[in-house]
Amino acid sequence: MATRHLIVGAGPAGINAIETLRAIDAESQIALVCDEPAYARMVLPYYLEGKIEERGVMTGDDSWFKDLGVSTHFGVRISSVDPGARRVTLDDGNHLDYDRLLLATGSRAARPSIDGLDGPGIINLWTLGDAKEFLSEPRSHTVIVGAGFIAFTVLDAIVARCEKVTFLEIESQVLPNMLDSASAALMKEHLENRGVEVRTGARLESLEQVDGRRRLQLSGGESLDCDAVVVAAGVAPNVGFLEGSGIELGSGPGAGILVDDRLQTSAEGVYAAGDVAQAADLQSGERRVHAVQPTAVDHGRVAAANMAGHDVRYAGSLIMNILAAQGLEACSFGDWRGVGREVTVVENSQNQIYRKYVWNDDVLVGGILVGPTLAVTSVNDVGMLKGLIQTGVHLGPWRAYLEENPLDLRRVYVASPAGAILLESTLLTGRISSGGGYRFPSLPASRRRSAHHATLLTGKPT
Ligand SMILES: Cc1cc2nc3c(=O)[nH]c(=O)nc-3n(C[C@H](O)[C@H](O)[C@H](O)COP(=O)(O)OP(=O)(O)OC[C@H]3O[C@@H](n4cnc5c(N)ncnc54)[C@H](O)[C@@H]3O)c2cc1C
Repeated sequence: MATRHLIVGAGPAGINAIETLRAIDAESQIALVCDEPAYARMVLPYYLEGKIEERGVMTGDDSWFKDLGVSTHFGVRISSVDPGARRVTLDDGNHLDYDRLLLATGSRAARPSIDGLDGPGIINLWTLGDAKEFLSEPRSHTVIVGAGFIAFTVLDAIVARCEKVTFLEIESQVLPNMLDSASAALMKEHLENRGVEVRTGARLESLEQVDGRRRLQLSGGESLDCDAVVVAAGVAPNVGFLEGSGIELGSGPGAGILVDDRLQTSAEGVYAAGDVAQAADLQSGERRVHAVQPTAVDHGRVAAANMAGHDVRYAGSLIMNILAAQGLEACSFGDWRGVGREVTVVENSQNQIYRKYVWNDDVLVGGILVGPTLAVTSVNDVGMLKGLIQTGVHLGPWRAYLEENPLDLRRVYVASPAGAILLESTLLTGRISSGGGYRFPSLPASRRRSAHHATLLTGKPT
């Protein structure tokens, strides 16, 4: 009998797993359960900003799933897993049996327990439904609670739709899990120059509704009135349905499902991938949740290859964050904090340039880049810095060169074997892919050029 694969979650981890399974094995049965449609959350900022239509957010429609021979169960949740019986229970009371199960249930937006923060009209901007809710009314003054990665990814869209935007961040800096204090200060100043109000060290005590608007009480007695509140105060893996299953979770807040180097959980035949999985970190080998899209894609593919009978080991994911907000780009990789390590820092606040390289002898183990989005060097250097850290190559005399010429990452990258190593490395052995191609051939190519276009052609920032 054909193997029965069951995938829970139609985000990037689940969808990439389906593509990989089908590329390896044309015969197996594949079923998909998801409470939401199949789409990519990281595309939501473009939808919010009006740059793409709703269909551009989607990653698979009925005909795509039909072509791949996937039976879909959308709009339902799984409520429990019984690994002994190899069966899941759905919240509509039905059951589904499986031979191999992939848990790709992602994460959900966390809500701090603050009085009034759970009332109607308080929006997360985590799901497509949240995005639609935000777009459903005109907003003049929006307060964003939390100035972390997700808040920054939606900032341009919110600024485009609101007269006034205020950040409230409890920590003493913006992007506390992505940037050090110096680079965060550069980002904060840039936003303030663009008219975004940024309040760091600001604790929200409570919220109430006054005359159809929101009144926020801050510690210290100050209050703030606005007409929309976006909560971006972190995410937590969706693991509630595993209670009583015996499947092992990590410990502490934000813990995910523990998986081994084949992405298998503590239960035989049950795998986990993406935001919900606590898998190996490339540098430390410790198991951590890396809630970003590239990790979800890698996890989904590796888990699926193993589910299909291949033996594929996953080396681990590199922690990374990349974003652009109001024309300033920022990224950080690996051990960007560099506590107790040697670091090279270059800072030119007038030109909005900040670079930090973190060293272990002659190996780059972490880094931060901040620079104007339209500066071509900064855009290209993001990939090269990532490549150097990801491969962990010894730079020998090029360490001294980079310390003397911290903006010339390109020469160092080309001299190093990092590019060759990356070109030869594959996540899965052989070419395991469904062949690529466009999901929606009827969608026209976008004709609108971004501001980057001229810069990339002329090499000169505009
Ligand atoms: C606005 C925004 C911008 C982002 N920008 C970036 C970016 O620039 N770069 C980047 O790397 N990452 C970005 N991310 C993060 C990225 O989208 C996530 O890391 C990625 O979606 C994780 O994929 P996943 O498949 O693990 O989970 P998800 O995409 O969350 O998909 C999981 C699916 O499973 C469903 N589900 C959960 N529980 C159940 C259940 N019990 N039964 C059935 N279904 C269930 C969920 O509702 C969801 O539809 C962004 C996220 C957001 C919200």
